[in-house]
Amino acid sequence: MANDQDNLLKKVISHAKEYGFVFPSSEIYDGLSAVYDYGQNGVELKNNIKEYWWKFMTQMHDNIVGIDAAIFMHPTTWKASGHVDAFNDPMIDNKDSKKRYRADVLVEDAITKMEEKIEKEVDKAEKRFGESFDEKMFLQTNPRVLEYKKKIDEANDRLKNAMNNSDMEAMKQLIVDLEINDPISGTKNWTDVRQFNLMFSTEMGSIAEDANKIYLRPETAQGIFVNFLNVQKTGRMKIPFGIAQIGKAFRNEIVARQFIFRMREFEQMEMQYFVKPGTEMEAYEFWKAKRMKWHQALGLGSANYRFHDHLNLAHYANAACDIQFNFPMGFKELEGIHSRTDFDLKSHEKHSGKKLQYFDGESNQSYVPFVVETSVGLDRMFLSILSNSYKEEKVAGADGEEGGERVVLSIPPALAPYKIAVLPLVKKDGLPEKATDIFHELKVDFRCYYEDKDTIGRRYRRMDAIGTPYCVTIDHQTLQDNTVTIRERDSMKQERVEISTVGEKIQKLVSINELLKKI
Ligand code: ATP
Repeated sequence: MANDQDNLLKKVISHAKEYGFVFPSSEIYDGLSAVYDYGQNGVELKNNIKEYWWKFMTQMHDNIVGIDAAIFMHPTTWKASGHVDAFNDPMIDNKDSKKRYRADVLVEDAITKMEEKIEKEVDKAEKRFGESFDEKMFLQTNPRVLEYKKKIDEANDRLKNAMNNSDMEAMKQLIVDLEINDPISGTKNWTDVRQFNLMFSTEMGSIAEDANKIYLRPETAQGIFVNFLNVQKTGRMKIPFGIAQIGKAFRNEIVARQFIFRMREFEQMEMQYFVKPGTEMEAYEFWKAKRMKWHQALGLGSANYRFHDHLNLAHYANAACDIQFNFPMGFKELEGIHSRTDFDLKSHEKHSGKKLQYFDGESNQSYVPFVVETSVGLDRMFLSILSNSYKEEKVAGADGEEGGERVVLSIPPALAPYKIAVLPLVKKDGLPEKATDIFHELKVDFRCYYEDKDTIGRRYRRMDAIGTPYCVTIDHQTLQDNTVTIRERDSMKQERVEISTVGEKIQKLVSINELLKKI
């Protein structure tokens, strides 16, 4: 990780804690690794992200409905889904640093480094040849580039084979052959690679002999598959249709060092879309485009998102990609879009002995639908917004602003924890009373914050730090002509308006519905 980006992540983590967004879990006992609590501002941001997703997926698509399935499920669910046998990650330790890694991630990182080397060659050549540079030709003919490409293809093939065949010796050999060093100790002193199942288990039942081993769900999707017929029948759903769900998932991740990017308890927002076999590619392309639009409507910058196609498809998938976001650690997976064929429903049919089929009235035939799923991590959405909106700026002191540095979270207004801060300029002369009246009126429609302590400049700073997009300031003129100033967070521009127009003016700017209209 480049130093600047490393610093940005550190700053975001400490800001998130200082301003009540994210706390380490059970911090008074020194925390619990890769588990976090959301604070008073974090929970609001999180709820707003959920609302944005839920409304888009269900309200805006009349063939998608939601459910809320239990976290505990019958243990056979996880046999059928393949998680008991195959939800493993290959793990490896460096004997010098005593650090543990995911072996496949070490290889992927080494491949990324080789890809970056190709980019560097291109940059160098572009500078050398200027206008006449033909990138396509260069990539096809330059010996050094061809050498890297060959190495990359070989490494990708070997990784794919090792993963598909669960061949941990081959995985170790690949790490040796690629001469991968531990980023911490710098040595190649590795242990063997071992498979590690990521599911947490516990026991259900009061008497030890009766107790059944059950799992904390590692994904929300299976709650949807097992309810496919319940929802289809009771909702009289016609294919194609979708079932959406937001809920907790649990994974005993091997490496959990990147704040809320990789947690052991996290939340997913998933939708399974059931289609007629043979039409899944159309649905896959449709949802790729839709989900990308949903992300981009937030305004965090289109260049910060990209698709990444999966080269190593799971055995049941016939297409899969990620939407990656430019996190402080670089481009990483934010959402997965997978065409899962009829694997899950067929497997549940087999294990439960129940038919999970759709009767198509038009063709008079029953079939097991194919599934396209979209799966986005709520916590990763949260991190994408927080890290992208964290800004340090120099401010000239004027109009009540304090000069110097400010930290501002330019969170999309529709998702900000508070929409409006109501601030009397001073705590005297009847201004707090007037401001309180305005606060009570506005709080019916908006999440509002009232504060009358400290200078106005300091209060603006505190609102900037939690991302409040609008401050409504009540001053002596307000008492004479019923006007207030509205200060906008990012530009710090102020506008004087009639009190009665404040609500209407701000409503459009902070509404999730307005965001949805853009998609
Ligand atoms: P990764 O390769 O990063 O481990 P994955 O491919 O296993 O992720 P999926 O199983 O496709 O992830 O899960 C869907 C989404 O759930 C991911 O895109 C991500 O946003 C989120 N997610 C998965 N694992 C975690 C985790 N440990 N912490 C936070 N979010 C997660």
